[in-house]
Amino acid sequence: MCSSHDVIVVGGGLSGLVLATALKRQAGSALSVALVDGALSRPRRHHRTSAVAPGPRIMLERLGIWPEVADRAAPVTRMEISDSRLSDAVRIPNLTFDSADVKGAVLAHIAFHADLEEAAQRAAAAAGVDFKPVHATSFEAGVATARLRLADGTEMTARLVVSADGSRSSLRDQAGLKSIAWDYQRTALAATIGHEADHEGVAVQHFLESGPIAMLPLPGRRSSLIWTATPEEASTALALSDEAFLAEVERRVGHRWGALSLVDRPLTFPLTFALARTFVAPRFALVGDAAHRIHPLAGQGLNLALRDVGCLTDAIIDQASLGLDIGSDITLKAYESSRRFDSAVSAMGVDLLHHIYKMKGPLADLRRSGVAVVQNSRLLKRALLNEAMGLSGEPPRLFRAEKAAA
Ligand SMILES: Cc1cc2nc3c(=O)[nH]c(=O)nc-3n(C[C@H](O)[C@H](O)[C@H](O)COP(=O)(O)OP(=O)(O)OC[C@H]3O[C@@H](n4cnc5c(N)ncnc54)[C@H](O)[C@@H]3O)c2cc1C
Repeated sequence: MCSSHDVIVVGGGLSGLVLATALKRQAGSALSVALVDGALSRPRRHHRTSAVAPGPRIMLERLGIWPEVADRAAPVTRMEISDSRLSDAVRIPNLTFDSADVKGAVLAHIAFHADLEEAAQRAAAAAGVDFKPVHATSFEAGVATARLRLADGTEMTARLVVSADGSRSSLRDQAGLKSIAWDYQRTALAATIGHEADHEGVAVQHFLESGPIAMLPLPGRRSSLIWTATPEEASTALALSDEAFLAEVERRVGHRWGALSLVDRPLTFPLTFALARTFVAPRFALVGDAAHRIHPLAGQGLNLALRDVGCLTDAIIDQASLGLDIGSDITLKAYESSRRFDSAVSAMGVDLLHHIYKMKGPLADLRRSGVAVVQNSRLLKRALLNEAMGLSGEPPRLFRAEKAAA
């Protein structure tokens, strides 16, 4: 059996779900869109969060996804970053970013990743995306269409196949796209922490010897903990009682939140880097973690992914509105030229930050001098914030607020 669509999106994480929704919401019945993922009905892991920057948040708002998660998300109005050793008695921030640096704008929102995925899946269904709850096993590009084989033995064809199947994308390899990759030998522990004092919308990140540890504000007196540890430290931490785990957290983040409690047991995520050398092949495009997987220290993986989604949506809709082939080289080149260089710079920039914060001795002093320059320059801060908020360069159309009707 073989079914045919205009676009097949492979992968039902946020990149795939948002792309499929955006295409259907913009093109309606003019484009048939299928989404293929054998794990669509898996239980979502509920207590990891993502920092959603303002540009991507506007996109989620316009697609009807954000209103469904907004009351479980919290705004960040200030960020405090420190550079200290575990043995230091206090952690004094040496870099701060404030809403006032960007005319009072919220810097980001912290939302539960699983909430976003569930809301995006509902939005995709409501928009008319055709779900295939089965994994793709192989991809082959033809002249006018691409052919996808599925794990249940069926086949599908489309004018364009989009691989949103995550950092271990098998389709990327089958399309012949090479990538560079490495393992950070670090594990992120994610948990929700309850606390006595108000967080006042402040996101705090301390760079310690083994990596950053962050407390990100959630609604009420709760924060999302993202603790980067060596794999050994992570397994030791996981084996601790709640009290002992919280004592280790407090030793690292300090005492500003008062007494801490563990709302849920920590989850772990291995941290890796991957960057595809090219994002497109005939009748094929990569988005999200399939194109670039980065360290979460700057909270930018999803934001980059949603920028890919916005740019690919623009390229496809532009071709479709002219009645042209949406899987042609014109679409693919437009997408790649908007994303390839930008993603590489962002991904390598985050990787560089990871290495800079690992430096010890005189190099660490040099780092602190550099950070002091940024801390004292409104211009540099605004430029960095613009980038992190997804507002730099030429943002995709969905990153711009809809104009109110006159
Ligand atoms: C600890 C941690 C904290 C993070 N914090 C932030 C943050 O604060 N801000 C931020 O912007 N980003 C953050 N990120 C990054 C962000 O979560 C990811 O970049 C984003 O979720 C990637 O989404 P994706 O849809 O591209 O990939 P995934 O979420 O990996 O989805 C891939 C999907 O493809 C499916 N799939 C795989 N193979 C196949 C196949 N053969 N056929 C069909 N389907 C397939 C899978 O089932 C899955 O549903 C963080 C990441 C981590 C690990």
